[in-house]
Amino acid sequence: MNIILIGPPGSGKGTQAKKILADFSLNYFSAGDILRGLAKEDSPLGREVAQIMAQGKLVSDSLMAQIIEDFLTRNEGDVVFDGYPRGLDQAVFLEKSLKNRGGISLVINLQVPEEVLINRLSSRVICRNCDAVYNLITNPPKKKEICDTCGGELYQRDDETPEAVKKRLAVFDRQTKPVIEFFDRKGGIFNVDGNQSIEAIYLIIRKKLVNIGLGLISA
Ligand code: AMP
Repeated sequence: MNIILIGPPGSGKGTQAKKILADFSLNYFSAGDILRGLAKEDSPLGREVAQIMAQGKLVSDSLMAQIIEDFLTRNEGDVVFDGYPRGLDQAVFLEKSLKNRGGISLVINLQVPEEVLINRLSSRVICRNCDAVYNLITNPPKKKEICDTCGGELYQRDDETPEAVKKRLAVFDRQTKPVIEFFDRKGGIFNVDGNQSIEAIYLIIRKKLVNIGLGLISA
């Protein structure tokens, strides 16, 4: 069963995806993680991607299509998608790509008010080494600027400056909201209040995944 996690930047898609992966046997597609990896490369494409991301804009649908195809070729089995699709063309492309792989079973829509998102994003820091995510207000590391898990350096993402955050939220409103409506019309949206504790949100998601028949790893 393929699952999509959708929601604005800062809604907790990555955090919930990691919890889902601990309980269910799924591959993880994180568009942002893959693009951040590409952006680190010292190549024309790497530099282009880094520039687009730092501005809070979306990279091209054709690049994303190549990335999706490559991922699906390399990973057999069901997938939880985080950060893809972010526009209507991407949604249609993903539906087509998953046609012979069971289709899309569930779209989880994390709903969070904009002022909460801005607060979350401006206080978010990430480990350069293991990608662990902290929030300086609600989930601070024990030592400032150092990852609790691996001792790596913590940094603020280039696209989490106030200007880039504003742009990313506007892009979400304009390009990703229509994707939610698209799946909603098909009857496949599961709305979750994302303005609760990480655990409370996950309990709701976990119950839903079990209800639709996804098997727990430990069961
Ligand atoms: P995220 O970590 O999911 O918030 O993504 C970070 C950034 O990566 C976004 O602001 C975009 O610049 C880029 N990005 C992520 N997913 C996509 C996508 N599906 N299509 C185009 N660009 C994307």
